[in-house]
Amino acid sequence: MKAADIAELYRRLAAANPDPRSELQYSSPFELLVAVVLSAQATDVGVNKATALLYPVANTPQQLLALGEDKLRGYIKTIGLYQTKAKNVIGLCRQLLERHGAQIPHDRAALEALPGVGRKTANVVLNVAFGEPTIAVDTHIFRIANRTGLAPGTNPDRISEKLEKITPEPYRLHAHHWLILHGRYVCKARTPECWRCVIADLCRYKHKTPAAEAVPETPDRLRGRPLEGAGKPKRGGVGKRSAAAPIKPPRRPH
Ligand code: SF4
Repeated sequence: MKAADIAELYRRLAAANPDPRSELQYSSPFELLVAVVLSAQATDVGVNKATALLYPVANTPQQLLALGEDKLRGYIKTIGLYQTKAKNVIGLCRQLLERHGAQIPHDRAALEALPGVGRKTANVVLNVAFGEPTIAVDTHIFRIANRTGLAPGTNPDRISEKLEKITPEPYRLHAHHWLILHGRYVCKARTPECWRCVIADLCRYKHKTPAAEAVPETPDRLRGRPLEGAGKPKRGGVGKRSAAAPIKPPRRPH
């Protein structure tokens, strides 16, 4: 994608959502770190439900260690891979206490050395907790990077590096959230809503969903449910009119 188109893409996402935020609930860098570790292959909503019960009981490395792995499992058992995640959370608490004075290190290598923390989690923490212009590639960003042609690839780490390189400086801090939220609410995995996508005319995805007026009104559609069979994208471009269509603001946590 040309540099001018990349800048325009971010300009539109920024205009549609000037102050994007993580949908994970947290009130400290430590709570954020644990929530991100728990969120691997899980939804933010599911993680928020679990941490809403856990954090009032234990929200520091010391308190989680005192709680212990067995009891922690009980709090997070609704989240996928909870047994491994419980073990990692206890391990990272121990390491934070032993090596970092119970503080979250503002350092990529130190973050990635924590149990259960890879490049993606470290990037989220560096971005959200420390304001660094990192772009963590999750399933949504992976999809958008490939569909739009922003940063095509198969390796999330390489995509992350590409995105950080090509994203214009004014947009780097929030690019991570703009792309995630766009993927979560508009460029959905099964049925991208190209007909109301603000970047449709810039996007190179060949199988865009049709313009809104071409989609028959059905009871399901009126209730906001996915169209039957809409997972099979139809051919047909989306012109500038659709690109200018208003974007529905993402739901915010309460
Ligand atoms: S036009 Fe469609 S495929 Fe492209 S970014 Fe928008 S929703 Fe995704």
